[in-house]
Amino acid sequence: MTMKKSNSVKLRGGKPGPFTVDGEEPGETVKRLTRALKSLPVMYFEMNGDFEIKSVTGETNTLLGHPAGGIIGRPAGDMFAPDDRGKAGDFFSRISNGSDHGGDEFSMIRADGSVFPVHICATSLPADVPEARIGGLAVDLSKMHGNNRDLEKKHNALIDYAIYDSTHDLLTDAFNRDMFVTRLQVETIKADRRKNKESIFAVMCIGLDRFKDVNEMYGTRTGDALLKQVVARLRDLLRPDDVLARIYGDKFMIIFSDVGTYEDTITISEKISRAFGDPFFAEGIPIPISASMGISIHPDDGRDAEELMDKADAAMYYAKDRGRNSYQLFSREIHDGIVQKLRLESDLRQAVRKDEFLMYYQPIVDPAGAIAGMESLVRWQSPSKGLVMPSEFIHVAEKSGIIVEIGYRAIEQVCLQNMEWLAKGYSPYTVAVNLSTYQFRRPDLVKEIAAIIERTGADPRRLKFEITETGIMENEKEGIERLHELKAMGCSLSIDDFGTGYSSFSKIHDLPVDTLKTDKSFIDNVPHSMKAVAILTAILNLAHNLGFSVVAEGIENNEQYDFLRSMKCDFFQGYYFSKPLPPEEIEKQFLLR
Ligand code: C2E
Ligand code: MG
Ligand code: MG
Repeated sequence: MTMKKSNSVKLRGGKPGPFTVDGEEPGETVKRLTRALKSLPVMYFEMNGDFEIKSVTGETNTLLGHPAGGIIGRPAGDMFAPDDRGKAGDFFSRISNGSDHGGDEFSMIRADGSVFPVHICATSLPADVPEARIGGLAVDLSKMHGNNRDLEKKHNALIDYAIYDSTHDLLTDAFNRDMFVTRLQVETIKADRRKNKESIFAVMCIGLDRFKDVNEMYGTRTGDALLKQVVARLRDLLRPDDVLARIYGDKFMIIFSDVGTYEDTITISEKISRAFGDPFFAEGIPIPISASMGISIHPDDGRDAEELMDKADAAMYYAKDRGRNSYQLFSREIHDGIVQKLRLESDLRQAVRKDEFLMYYQPIVDPAGAIAGMESLVRWQSPSKGLVMPSEFIHVAEKSGIIVEIGYRAIEQVCLQNMEWLAKGYSPYTVAVNLSTYQFRRPDLVKEIAAIIERTGADPRRLKFEITETGIMENEKEGIERLHELKAMGCSLSIDDFGTGYSSFSKIHDLPVDTLKTDKSFIDNVPHSMKAVAILTAILNLAHNLGFSVVAEGIENNEQYDFLRSMKCDFFQGYYFSKPLPPEEIEKQFLLR
């Protein structure tokens, strides 16, 4: 190793000059320094004002695991462990502006990704050193012994912990998503290099069925215990070289390396399916839970990690949609479904830009059949598809977040419509607007609604929001707070599709709502199904005792209407009275002056 001739270092006393140490012959100094740098676990480096490495001298090969040339020109930050980059940046800034000189300890990173402790002392270089602003000496502490052993051990333990922390899911001890992606990337590279091109490997995505219900029914502690049990049971089935990770929530992924054939993936899926056959015991509670699984195969379904994960994920959701508790290989059908969804998503974005959504109104009547209010229901007036119903686009709008914009426009249209009806001299009516769970979660929801009310000048007392119980209970504390805020603005509130969630009976007394809307599925079966009648009776009793009114929605015939009236239901909505209609029709057929 030769020292760079251009380096001019003032080592001790005297004027800065080429490699001089107190009157010694320049050649001697160079020799001695070279010896020191070669035999000690140290590295001398210089960098410019942008903290890019300009030169390195010493044992970079053993210290950092790559030859000096490999790091020249790279940001110095690259040499530090991610957690220490900020600290190193601050340290070098202080050195650079002269407010610090001296040393500190850091974690550096080798070419193979391993982290090791160093002590760095650094100094700002004189202005006549070309390109370089800072010079520093890094001493590898992992090579230290004796007094430094404890320090090294502590350091290593901390580093091990940090590495574990950043690669594992701390609840279940499985790998986390980042580590899974890394392992999958490695697997794809290995597979591409493999001589035997016939061999395949599989990525499986596992989603627990109705895990949310477990959390709601038993609490998140039990839910967490269940997740741990699931990981333990899956581990029992896996081979040592299979990779298991918790991606988030109740979603897991596994890499089955070198599975052989497509048939083998089916055998594996069935084995895992069977493993969910017996209930899990979480906190002593037996919890039967099934899983939906989706599988993608390298190289047929994708060549890179992201594509394989996306496809396994899509196949898992496909299995869920097909009735859960099953597995599904990624297929043409799923591919077409994804393409269709993406197309719909892009059409919806365009529809928002072109303002193609309009509101229809369905009357809500009292026991005498007189109009008592309305529910607004969105429709998409598409130039190519015609009038599109919410069932065809709401789910995609929710998944892609477009529902937020659609939802705010719906509220605005309803406010403007109400103002128009008032201006035309009609009596004031309360109009309900549906709020999707996705929108209800938004922290700025109340602020946005207040702004719409302010902008349109509408009366908030004529605005009612319909939210499902799942939407409220998903994040109970915040959900209830948000309801209070909407109520404080003067709006009224209704729980939509009531009776289909689990929290119903135990939780609703805390909710500041005015109305429960019973789910249409109960109405469909009255008065003939004893079970539906029993549920409706219970809901009506409970609601009335708590001071809520009840709207029965989905009334399609006189028999249902009569029966519900006899049960003292307060309000009624359904095709029996009217389908949702455009505003001009509602005006003509129902509104009173
Ligand atoms: P929802 O809020 O429970 O609305 C009731 C649905 O039942 C409406 O369907 C309505 O047209 C339909 N319906 C009412 N009476 C009857 C009946 O007697 N028989 C039958 N078979 N159906 C009846 P629609 O308009 O297709 O809306 C479906 C769902 O889409 C709504 O369910 C709501 O969840 C969602 N949605 C509609 N408009 C909006 C909106 O502006 N924003 C959001 N976030 N969601 C909306
Ligand atoms: Mg509704
Ligand atoms: Mg409903």
